Amino acid sequence: MILFANLNFKLINMTVRIFCLNEKDIADTEYLTHMLSKDIGPLKFRLYTPSTKEDYYKFHNSLDKVSVDDFNHISQLIENRYHFNHNFFNVILTEKQIESPTNKFKSSKDWYSFYFENFIIVKTSGWEEATEGKPYLGVAHQIIENLFQSLGRIDLYGLNLFDSVHKKTKTCINDFCETTEETNGKIRSGHICKECYDNAICHVENDTLVQIRNILRRIRNRITEDYEIPFSDRERKIEIINNSDIIIGGVYIDWGKSKNLHPYYLFFLLNYNKNIGVSDFKGEGEYQDAHEKMTQLLIDMKFKNFEKLKGTSVGERLLEEKLKLVESFIKNITSYQTRIYNSIMNNVHREDIGYFYRLTSSKINKKNTYCVKVEPSDIVIPKKFLKYIVSEV
Ligand SMILES: [Zn+2]
Repeated sequence: MILFANLNFKLINMTVRIFCLNEKDIADTEYLTHMLSKDIGPLKFRLYTPSTKEDYYKFHNSLDKVSVDDFNHISQLIENRYHFNHNFFNVILTEKQIESPTNKFKSSKDWYSFYFENFIIVKTSGWEEATEGKPYLGVAHQIIENLFQSLGRIDLYGLNLFDSVHKKTKTCINDFCETTEETNGKIRSGHICKECYDNAICHVENDTLVQIRNILRRIRNRITEDYEIPFSDRERKIEIINNSDIIIGGVYIDWGKSKNLHPYYLFFLLNYNKNIGVSDFKGEGEYQDAHEKMTQLLIDMKFKNFEKLKGTSVGERLLEEKLKLVESFIKNITSYQTRIYNSIMNNVHREDIGYFYRLTSSKINKKNTYCVKVEPSDIVIPKKFLKYIVSEV
């Protein structure tokens, strides 16, 4: 059986028409189509809401479950009704049970979807568990998975199916997934493994693969978002101790080889919830003493013998070095911002807390500014550090 003889080899634009055949699924399907449409690329998604007058709707409505023959018949009725060419994919969404499309191999698996040429069918019911209560993400994943496999010319009906689909789970889009847990893992992974990418790239253009991967990541992010373990007071506590070490949630931050990150971050931490940017360091912003305060902090932390050596040639040279560190920071804030973030994340016990205490950036009055956000009740600052706090003009 040659399934894909009529498919163009590489397609520029492709419209994916989504036919929702149950009234109760319309709201979810609208939401889903909106999500699929967020990523720019050759795939365009269009929703067709159910019209009870249409033949394909009436026929589907009369079924208890959808067999392969029923699927073919619905596809035919849709094809009769709508102009069809090979730049279209048609997705049929049904809440009804789907029968196995093939008897080529034995599996106790419930069928959630399959495809034939440019027609895909996806079951909209039974997704609660695998999607942690967000069923539309399961349906969206199935649409993308079937598109990916159909475009990549995986023959669902061939004996060598398991050359292209992972029977043993690899947390990849092409996992066969006998169990709900495996399906959940696949959706949470948002992953296309290298082997499956290499197989697909022979048939699918790069732009389409990039778009598919972006959509998978969006689905993955949505399934894991809104999931928060509350922080305890101890976990969210951020302390500066007398020797200037920083402790987040009971863990000392080890700055590794990049020792300068420590004073840079400390400066912003002492000045928490203040947006300080290059214009402030240049004396043109809201905090005109920012440069002076950061320099003072750097000298006190990195040049302990400053007072003793002041005026000597060694002293002058070392002072020059420290002043250069301030300039280097101002010139490369973004790169230091990333390095600070990595150092914090490598240390903290909980990454969500490390993320929260990162150096954030925001545009204020068209200028880039940087800030560490902290609840005042969560931070401990010894008195000796108060002199590094900038003052507003
Ligand atoms: Zn794979």
